[in-house]
Amino acid sequence: MLQIPPEAYNDERRQYNSSVILDMLKPLRSPDVCRILAVIDEDLYVPWLNFVFGMADMESGVAIISLVRLRNEIYGYPPDNRLLFERTVKEAVHELGHTFGRGHCADPRCVMHFSNSLEDTDRKGASFCPNCRGRSGMEWYF
Ligand SMILES: [Zn+2]
Ligand SMILES: [Zn+2]
Repeated sequence: MLQIPPEAYNDERRQYNSSVILDMLKPLRSPDVCRILAVIDEDLYVPWLNFVFGMADMESGVAIISLVRLRNEIYGYPPDNRLLFERTVKEAVHELGHTFGRGHCADPRCVMHFSNSLEDTDRKGASFCPNCRGRSGMEWYF
């Protein structure tokens, strides 16, 4: 467990700035650490968006996902751990996909499709479409 850097917290927004946290994670990469994926139970933002489900830094190979907006409860629905798990896997694969050089995909069923809302996340699968899979041997990694 890592301490969340307090300077990442924005009092007005009551959210954590995901790029500040990624900056903290970058030095933890080493030749034996292929990728870093942080999972946080706090709400994340970038200055130009209300929130983000996650964020990745392609160059340094570090990524973060937040569980907060993947939970049914915050939308007023009963808790569902199976759904929470599925959504977490999709967001994790998506952000890791970015660290392996994948951009966003237009196919709404592809895991690399951008999720603007939870409906987007629920619509897409946890795997890459043939087009995304085909580019530079992604199947070696997943
Ligand atoms: Zn993305
Ligand atoms: Zn795709």
